[in-house]
Amino acid sequence: MTGHDVAMIFPQQAIGSRLFPPDLAQSLNDLYREKGVEVRAGETVESVDPRGSKVVVKTRSSGHDRQREIVVDAVVAGLGIQPNVELAQAAGLDVDNGICVDAALRTSQPDIFAAGDVAEFYNPMLRSHLRVEHEDNANTMGAAAGRSMAGQLVRYDHIPSFYSDLFELGYEAVGDVDSRLETIADWKDPYREGVVYYMEEDRVRGRAAVERLGPD
Ligand SMILES: Cc1cc2nc3c(=O)[nH]c(=O)nc-3n(C[C@H](O)[C@H](O)[C@H](O)COP(=O)(O)OP(=O)(O)OC[C@H]3O[C@@H](n4cnc5c(N)ncnc54)[C@H](O)[C@@H]3O)c2cc1C
Repeated sequence: MTGHDVAMIFPQQAIGSRLFPPDLAQSLNDLYREKGVEVRAGETVESVDPRGSKVVVKTRSSGHDRQREIVVDAVVAGLGIQPNVELAQAAGLDVDNGICVDAALRTSQPDIFAAGDVAEFYNPMLRSHLRVEHEDNANTMGAAAGRSMAGQLVRYDHIPSFYSDLFELGYEAVGDVDSRLETIADWKDPYREGVVYYMEEDRVRGRAAVERLGPD
């Protein structure tokens, strides 16, 4: 930590609940608390308003009618994105959860291609339509769209992966990493080093590897 008081407010019960099985997510709450972060799980932000040089954040706990107020110097909001599809819609392209593209990354207007956070594509390995908000997919898909535009035969079947660092822990995830799936954990050191497999009908749909990061 940098010496500042930090509060982390989110509506789920634990950090990374949408990704990780409940015991791993709960251990992340403990890790953040050990590091001095005030973890306010199960709390929703209702308003953010300036007051002088400060910011007043009003929150409400899920299941309670009690409103709380916290006065802070700064707010960092991590809320996800909504794809900017207005231009595509105005051009008459098919848009669902994002701009729809085929395996060659063509939109419904074959001279127009889309890639990255904004594009929705079908992944044959995972057998589902995906729109991925991660760097690995944006880089790989962008390069593939360029090759496709230049006339190469492209079938985009890349399995998306992503990574993040949580203090001294790092994780790398590939495929469908969704805590609603059945999970099987193989820990070398519980919640610090190991692999979580995400299963459906006895098949692995995704995998998250957790490890301790090196000193650099
Ligand atoms: C705070 C933050 C942290 C992140 N951390 C990670 C991480 O740890 N790991 C990870 O894998 N990913 C992370 N990501 C996600 C990653 O940055 C994105 O997946 C990636 O940048 C998407 O690339 P993109 O080219 O699809 O879109 P963008 O990088 O959003 O690029 C789209 C570009 O299009 C431009 N544009 C939009 N509309 C128009 C228009 N009408 N005309 C012209 N230009 C237009 C925009 O200005 C922008 O420059 C993070 C993102 C954020 C915001």
